Amino acid sequence: MNLIFLGPPGAGKGTQAKIVVERLGIIQVSTGDILRAAVKNGTELGLKAKAYMDRGDLVPDEVVIGIIEDRIKEPDCSAGFILDGFPRTMEQAKALDDILSKLGTKIDHVINFEVNEEELVSRLMARAEAEGRSDDNPESVRNRLRVFQEKTQPLVDYYKGTGILRNIYGLGDIQEVAGKVQAVLGA
Ligand code: ADP
Repeated sequence: MNLIFLGPPGAGKGTQAKIVVERLGIIQVSTGDILRAAVKNGTELGLKAKAYMDRGDLVPDEVVIGIIEDRIKEPDCSAGFILDGFPRTMEQAKALDDILSKLGTKIDHVINFEVNEEELVSRLMARAEAEGRSDDNPESVRNRLRVFQEKTQPLVDYYKGTGILRNIYGLGDIQEVAGKVQAVLGA
């Protein structure tokens, strides 16, 4: 099963992805995790991405599309994957369609996590304290939410149009939301 987890920063995509990965034995592909690892290791990719990430801006499309193309082709993805944090722009969504059709595969469900903005801000601030992520500061958080509305929200309509969008209300405790995800996936 191939899935996209869509939703604003702080909606719980990564947390829920880990639960589904455990249950179904598929792979989580998080562009945020891949980029953070590159920053930490000081690679060329990391050097390019860091300034965008710290500001809460999107890393350029061609960079993340390249990352995803390489990752999805790896043999461990053939049993299924969850894209967590990708696509985030229409360009990325279209590129993903091309990549998947070349590979002869497709996305089965797009899970759209809906959470109100007030809750997101308080979650992101709590996470900033717990994890010390350099992009979980007030300016970056506000910018990430703005960028989400402007660039990523249109993907909801795009996937609604293709009939694979599944909305989930993302508030509630982790297990409760996990139950809703499981119900939607039927597995
Ligand atoms: P969050 O969902 O909390 O914003 P992520 O870990 O998904 O956290 O992303 C962190 C940062 O990594 C983003 O603010 C952005 O700079 C970069 N990033 C991650 N995924 C993408 C993507 N698909 N396109 C562009 N930039 C991305």
